[in-house]
Parts: sequence; C-alpha cells; structure tokens
Amino acid sequence: MSEQIVKQRTRGFICTNAHPEGCAQRVQQQIAIVEQLKPAGIAGPKKVLIIGSSTGYGLATRIATAWGFGAETLGVFYERPPQGKKTASAGYYNSVAFEHLARNRGLSASSINGDAFSTECKQQTIDQVRSKMGALDLVIYSLASPRRIHPATGEIYNSALKAIDVPYVGKTVDITHGTVDEVEIPTASDLEITATTAVMGGEDWRMWIDALRSENLLAEGARTLAYSYIGPELTWPIYRHGTIGVAKEHLEQTARSIHADLKTQFNGGAWVSVNKAVVTQASAAIPVVPLYLSLLLPVMKNKGIHEGVIEQMCRLAFNHLAEGCVVLTDSRNLIRLDDLEMREDVQAEVVQLWKKVSTENVEKISDIAGFRREFNNLFGFDVDGVDYDATTETEIFL
Ligand code: NAD
Repeated sequence: MSEQIVKQRTRGFICTNAHPEGCAQRVQQQIAIVEQLKPAGIAGPKKVLIIGSSTGYGLATRIATAWGFGAETLGVFYERPPQGKKTASAGYYNSVAFEHLARNRGLSASSINGDAFSTECKQQTIDQVRSKMGALDLVIYSLASPRRIHPATGEIYNSALKAIDVPYVGKTVDITHGTVDEVEIPTASDLEITATTAVMGGEDWRMWIDALRSENLLAEGARTLAYSYIGPELTWPIYRHGTIGVAKEHLEQTARSIHADLKTQFNGGAWVSVNKAVVTQASAAIPVVPLYLSLLLPVMKNKGIHEGVIEQMCRLAFNHLAEGCVVLTDSRNLIRLDDLEMREDVQAEVVQLWKKVSTENVEKISDIAGFRREFNNLFGFDVDGVDYDATTETEIFL
C-alpha cells in the first residue's frame, strides 16, 4: 500500500510518473464516448487480441471493441507496475482501470505485461488464448516502440527518427517553454534505416500472425490490422520520407502478404489503417509533430471535425469492422481514417499557420495549450474532476 499525493514530473517530452485516478477517469471518458457513438444493435468481432493495448490507439481500439461489440479482449503491453513510492506508468494504470471497468460490465478482459517482440511473450499469449478465449476474430497490432531485441538473433535494434538523403531543417516547438525554433534533423545511416524497419516495420506483426495460425488460434474470417500515418507534405521530410516512413512502407507490404494468406486460409484479411495525427506518448516524441498538432487542433476544432483516438477507433470499428460492413480502402488497400485531417481546406489553413508561427504568436495562433493539456492527460494529469491535492493509492495491480 502506498497512499500519496502525486504531482506531475516531466523531463522533456516525457512524463516520468502517472496519476492512477486521472488515468482511470480518462478510460471512463473514452468508454462514455463509445456509448454515445455506438449505433443501436451493432455487432462485431467477439474475441480480440490487441498488441500494444495500454495507451493511444491500441487502448482506444480495446475500449471501442469491448464496449462497442461486447468483445472479450486480451491486451499485450510493456508497462511499469508501481513499486513502493514510485508510481506505475500511465499504460499500466490505464490497463488496471480498463480491466476493472470491463469486469464490472460483465466483459471478459485479461492482460499480459511483457515484451511483445519476444518469443516468451508470444508463447504466453498463445497459451492464454488457447485456455481462456479460443480462436480469435481480430488481431490488432498497435506497437510503438523505440527498440526491439530480435527473438532469433538477440540483436538489439534502436529506431531512429531521422531524415533520408537530405537533412531536414524546419520549425519545431518546445512545448514546455512555448518557443518556436529551427531544428536540424540529420540524415540516417543505412544501419539506422534497417534498425528502424526492424523495430517499426512488419516483421514482428508477421511473426505474431504466423504463430497464431500455426497454433490454430485464428477463427474463420479472422482479420488483422496494423496502424500507420501518412500526414501532409510538411511532415514528410521527417515522417513519410524519413526512417519511420520506410518502416511503415514495410508494414504496408507485410499487410499485403498477410492478407493473401488469411484470405486463402480463413476468408479473412489484413489491412493497414492510416489514422490521423493525435497526441500520444509516441507522437509527442517525434520532432515537428507537436507543432503540427498544435496548429491542426484549432483548425479541426473550428470546423467541428476534431477527433481524438477514441472517435477514430469508433469509426474504424463501426464503419469497417462491424458485422455487415466491408473494409473500405483506397487504391493501395489502406483504410483511410485520416480523411478529415487531409482535407484540402484543413491542410491549406495549417500551411498558412505553419508559415507564420513563431515564439511571439504561438500561444495565440496555435492550440499549444490544448496540446499541453492532452499531453498531461495521457499521464492522468490535468483531468477534470480529479483532486490532485488529495492522497491516492498508487500501488494498484492488474
Ligand atoms: P502509444 O505510445 O500510445 O502506444 C504504444 C503501445 O505499444 C503501448 O501499449 C505500449 O505499452 C506498447 N509497447 C511498446 N513497446 C512494447 C513492447 N516491446 N512490448 C509490448 N508492448 C509494447 O502509441 P500510438 O501513438 O498509439 O501508436 C500506435 C500505432 O499507431 C503505431 O503504429 C503508430 O505509428 C500508429 N499511429 C499513431 C498516430 C499518432 O498520431 N499517434 C497516427 C497514426 C498512426
């Protein structure tokens, strides 16, 4: 037991602690949105494995399928449990809250906290799926990780967020101090490109699906999805045309090859869903993205088309994955949930703001305050209705 007052501690673009009640409140807020957006009488996948289920898009998919379809969910993530006075990571508290709320609602939910890249974690998942769930209808691959230890070779790959061919020089914002500066992002070496693809490309996704197939744990019609981002031209030098973009290309190629296998064997399929830019732990760490998001937020809010992770995942679940729906894709077989973000009128306004944004006007013309708040929310801070001066129990476990 460790009752304590928890005040936020940040270091650069990471927050080193988390507030259990704030995290639980945020999970509840997402559930409320699913309840509100869920069409009456909708049905969908009933047995869902989510790899990367504790934060961001993975957590939102877990909530959307559990509360939207009544799905039984198994979540895999890599999070720090609480230890003495040290709080757990936000993803750990989110998962504790999710499981608690799911059980109260009569929904079956369990979790595995381990390194998804490892053979041991895959085996543990397989054992649990076989003993508790039975064959899966849906497998979501939503990992965002800075490193991977390759299960066959033991090699450690560290991903690099770098440009390719030419260094990128452009604007970036220091979220804490509100200063807009120029940043130079160097080019990656071939080794860094390979390493980033090893971490964020499709090899591990393929390993998961092969492992589940070989154990007969995929049901007739089984589908699998991984997530990607394309974004507007102004982010391309560091995103789509950078190391991460090469990795995402690999993910998309992998989708095509998994799709062929699942189609033949189960009349199922594999897709990459291109989601919109949102504030998550992963995106906050990518240079350029916090400034882009601070400018995108007010533009989309003013047009009444703002969406967060849960609205996006409700659209995915209810428009693409529900019974009676077909998965809608573009000509490259990609699901495009980024359609509103990529609208011409939205991007034209963002580009204009991007050109004129500076330290002097950033607080005025962007929603940097909204970005900060959403960032704090990720760790359970700055959440309405939570008394941050009161003590709270931080030693809560799955
Ligand atoms: P996130 O940081 O919120 O979540 C990452 C998840 O991966 C967490 O559950 C974490 O525990 C888990 N994880 C990381 N390493 C792990 C490991 N070794 N073993 C097990 N679990 C591990 O990230 P996110 O932004 O939601 O990103 C998820 C996916 O969505 C990524 O593919 C990302 O590219 C994509 N995406 C993100 C955005 C965005 O703006 N955030 C936009 C479009 C697509």
